[in-house]
Amino acid sequence: TKKAVLGPLVGAVDQGTSSTRFLVFNSKTAELLSHHQVEIKQEFPREGWVEQDPKEILMSVYECIEKTCEKLEQLNIDISNIKAIGVSNQRETTVVWDKITGEPLYNAVVWLDLRTQSTVENLSKRIPGNNNFVKSKTGLPLSTYFSAVKVRWLLDNVRNVQKAVEEDRALFGTIDSWLIWCLTGGTNGGVHCTDVTNASRTMLFNIHSLEWDKELCEFFEIPMKILPNVRSSSEIYGLMKAGALEGVPISGCLGDQSAALVGQMCFRDGQAKNTYGTGCFLLCNTGRKCVFSEHGLLTTVAYKLGRDKPVYYALEGSVAIAGAVIRWLRDNLGIINSSDEIEKLAKEVGTSYGCYFVPAFSGLYAPYWEPSARGIICGLTQFTNKCHIAFAALEAVCFQTREILDAMNRDCGIPLSHLQVDGGMTNNKILMQLQADILYIPVVKPSMPETTALGAAMAAGAAEGVGVWSLEPEDLSAVTMERFEPQINAEESEIRYSTWKKAVMKSMGWVT
Ligand code: ADP
Repeated sequence: TKKAVLGPLVGAVDQGTSSTRFLVFNSKTAELLSHHQVEIKQEFPREGWVEQDPKEILMSVYECIEKTCEKLEQLNIDISNIKAIGVSNQRETTVVWDKITGEPLYNAVVWLDLRTQSTVENLSKRIPGNNNFVKSKTGLPLSTYFSAVKVRWLLDNVRNVQKAVEEDRALFGTIDSWLIWCLTGGTNGGVHCTDVTNASRTMLFNIHSLEWDKELCEFFEIPMKILPNVRSSSEIYGLMKAGALEGVPISGCLGDQSAALVGQMCFRDGQAKNTYGTGCFLLCNTGRKCVFSEHGLLTTVAYKLGRDKPVYYALEGSVAIAGAVIRWLRDNLGIINSSDEIEKLAKEVGTSYGCYFVPAFSGLYAPYWEPSARGIICGLTQFTNKCHIAFAALEAVCFQTREILDAMNRDCGIPLSHLQVDGGMTNNKILMQLQADILYIPVVKPSMPETTALGAAMAAGAAEGVGVWSLEPEDLSAVTMERFEPQINAEESEIRYSTWKKAVMKSMGWVT
């Protein structure tokens, strides 16, 4: 017997840098009913290079969908109640594939990848007009981080990509585009699209006109014919072509950080959230205004929840390495076997004992945008052990957040009174308490931390033609909050923070 009617359900794909998840929510209560997660391999073929296999990413999505559906069936929940699917994804990561064969023409070049450093240097020498050319159109600094330079690199270095472009077989997309194209049929009628939030991270998209920018495409020498159609974040893009959810519409699409902003219900001007995943991303909703930062933050599209709905913008502080440093301690140093063991090590000592760890593995992003920086561990003594290093790694995540929060407060004028958080790392209670101590404001975490997936599900469920989710806060009855209050005094917190800044200065200028 099937369980009593729950009301309509909505699924969400959350394709992150570390893992892929599929989650199913009740659209009436936002309750998470079931999910499945698969870790994704990262390849480091050379120093500074980070790649993933687009086929592995796709297979992980199918696996998560199938396993979640099996779990729902075991709970006696009828999967035919799933009325829509949303997609949220790691942003900027770049795929070019062949639309005739459906095969990727190279691995996905991940956002963290640094191979385009010289491409960026060459481009920056020939920026037309003033230095603001790229920033004023896109809200972004010219950096290895964004997709345009990754596509440029692929065109310059991969013969198959050049050839496919010449033969009109190449399609470009961020992970959302790749997945939606495949899930809606691939070579058999797949839809080649992206949403405004993902488009805003390519450095080819004009965030004012909400269109691909011809001048930018000329500057980066990227043919416009390979770009996906840009749609809103909430509308029906196409139907699932195969698997347990065949025929279900895909009707939500948001870059992961935008999805988390929506999932945390930050719909009003001045509302902000910080997500602790592979990197750390603090986004503050600036409403319908495009605000430009004077303190190293990005301007980005927050969301546009429907074809005829207005676009909202956000200021963003991006930190490249947060959870990735914990994964590094696991995979490269082997001092832990799983990410959650870091908490036990850190707890044993409760201090870094003067050790500071600046994990500038991919240079420094906000607020410095310093590609010459590399990671350092400093302040070591005979006394330092792995527990202190573990503690310093957690502290580093908190200090980096403090730096972007300070920048945000300066740009916005009104300091945040508390910080809403989410992401894989927020399971770590020591991290959350340290964060409250270092920011000296309360840190507030929803009991259901999967806000990225929730945001994508909300967008999908609210889409025209689906209409099973209303975007009113009252609907989130299943979400309660956990609060972490600052416990050390402000003075102690300031001393630690200023020593951190000294360490950051020492991490700069390693690469010339
Ligand atoms: P992403 O969305 O970037 O894939 P997630 O939000 O899934 O990332 O978070 C995964 C990251 O969080 C990994 O880098 C992992 O090392 C880190 N992480 C997971 N659990 C913990 C924990 N208990 N303490 C510290 N870090 C953790």
